[in-house]
Amino acid sequence: MKNIIFIAPPASGKGTISKTLAEEYGYKHLSTGECLRKRVENNDKEIKYLIENGKLVSDELISTIIGEEISILKGQPFILDGVPRTLIQAKMLDTMFEKNMVTDVIVIKLNINKETAIKRILGRIVCSSCGKSYNMFNEKLKPKNENICDLCNNLLSKRSDDTREKIETRFSEYEKNILPIVEYYKSKNMIIEFNAEGEIEDALNKVKELIND
Ligand code: AMP
Repeated sequence: MKNIIFIAPPASGKGTISKTLAEEYGYKHLSTGECLRKRVENNDKEIKYLIENGKLVSDELISTIIGEEISILKGQPFILDGVPRTLIQAKMLDTMFEKNMVTDVIVIKLNINKETAIKRILGRIVCSSCGKSYNMFNEKLKPKNENICDLCNNLLSKRSDDTREKIETRFSEYEKNILPIVEYYKSKNMIIEFNAEGEIEDALNKVKELIND
């Protein structure tokens, strides 16, 4: 099973796809956003400020978080969701892969436009306990019971950075940083991209084809 790096704007579906692949194929899902939100729950005010303003946290912190996670995987396939977000992070990952003898990595870039991202984000509600994401504007992605997680019965809520204003900043941050990362992975012949505007199942099936190739 190939290790996966997802490069995608907010609300592209990468979180949902990652969770499904983790359940179905035993991938370890490493989401830097989720790791950071846990730190915020533990009262890290600086990270809270950056996340709430759609800004990136430091490359050093991401290196510490991911470095620790990758070193304990011991061969379990993984999905990186939300990293790299800078060229420095991409190069840092290469060093980690080398150190931990990780091979067979595919970079999958999911493309959606800003309007689709905004629409999805405004309808998004998330389980603060297990992280499962739902969408109030999509019949197929609504929870069975209003505001209750189908999986763990905990309450659903909106992420504090899921507002129209903040998604604009997050999307611009993404677009500003993404080009050099994409060029970098192209030069290493590691990246495949496709349009993820449609149903989430279509994107999921496409990803399954790529990892089983
Ligand atoms: P996400 O859940 O991936 O949308 O991430 C939520 C927020 O966490 C982002 O808007 C950033 O503020 C921060 N973040 C997540 N991953 C990274 C990363 N690799 N580098 C810097 N900041 C990050």
